[in-house]
Amino acid sequence: MLLTEEQIKKLNEKWVRYPIVEDSCIWCSACVAISQGVFEMNEDTWKSEVLNLESYEDLWVDDSIMACPVECIKWSK
Ligand code: SF4
Repeated sequence: MLLTEEQIKKLNEKWVRYPIVEDSCIWCSACVAISQGVFEMNEDTWKSEVLNLESYEDLWVDDSIMACPVECIKWSK
């Protein structure tokens, strides 16, 4: 299940930070290769999307941020 607006609201209420994929994603799938449990390729939008999780492992997300060739993954806070 992908991260929804309702899930984002709950994460914000709990002060849990989460990754954000911006529209400049070029669908290279590097983030999914590194963090398959965090990101998923959406074949309808041709963008990477963030999965709906209770929390996000810093190291996995940081590695994906470093690997993204267009720097389109950010932390929410
Ligand atoms: S690494 Fe960046 S450009 Fe590649 S799929 Fe992930 S978010 Fe998109």
